[in-house]
Amino acid sequence: MTQVILFDVDGTLLSSRGGGKKAMEQAALELFGIENALRGVKMHGNTDPLIFREILRRAGRVDDEDALKTLTASYLDVVSGYFKEYGVIPIGGVEQGLTSLKEAGFVMGLVTGNMEETAWMKITAAGLERFFEPGLGGFGSTSGDRRHILASALREVTSRFPDVSGVFLVGDTPFDTAAAESGGIPVCAVTTGPYGAAELLSYGADAVVPSLELLTVELAKSLIYVSKTPSDESWERLHESLG
Ligand SMILES: [Mg+2]
Repeated sequence: MTQVILFDVDGTLLSSRGGGKKAMEQAALELFGIENALRGVKMHGNTDPLIFREILRRAGRVDDEDALKTLTASYLDVVSGYFKEYGVIPIGGVEQGLTSLKEAGFVMGLVTGNMEETAWMKITAAGLERFFEPGLGGFGSTSGDRRHILASALREVTSRFPDVSGVFLVGDTPFDTAAAESGGIPVCAVTTGPYGAAELLSYGADAVVPSLELLTVELAKSLIYVSKTPSDESWERLHESLG
């Protein structure tokens, strides 16, 4: 039976130290002539599509789908240079935690607001790619709404692993706990992002750890134990209900 853990990326597994934001601002400057296009925009827990739409709003180009495509392409052109310049570093305890979970046989994937390309770019730059099932997850390339992103990841999980017996999510913000709740799966929160334990618990986290090193095999098994056995139908229904 396959047991799956899905991880948020930024603030949970790694930090790109503002490189992604700088890349978006450069794309916005080149295309629309806007300086510091993301000043005041909350990045934690946000998704790339929603951030790009905020840039378009500030550029007076709301609902301009061509401008959205051009902005996305420009960002993807420049972002790897920023990751190299700023560095992408795994958060403390992540490698130890993922090593134990991998050795215990858990299959691991991503649920992130990053575009699929940039998510894997960050994971590779942080030296974490060996822990993850290639291509497994849900990404901001699919939707700006984390609930849709999780639903897409769950569909991918059931299609790749028909014998899956449980899934849970790991994330660092209330957006992650809300997505897990909508997907009907447990969530382990980490306090390595901007939120503290009490706040994450109040937003519905089933467990909170200060570092992924403390997401032990025993804790992971207990979260799998309380996760319902997923079925294609239940997640197809989730997709439909989200529209
Ligand atoms: Mg995060």
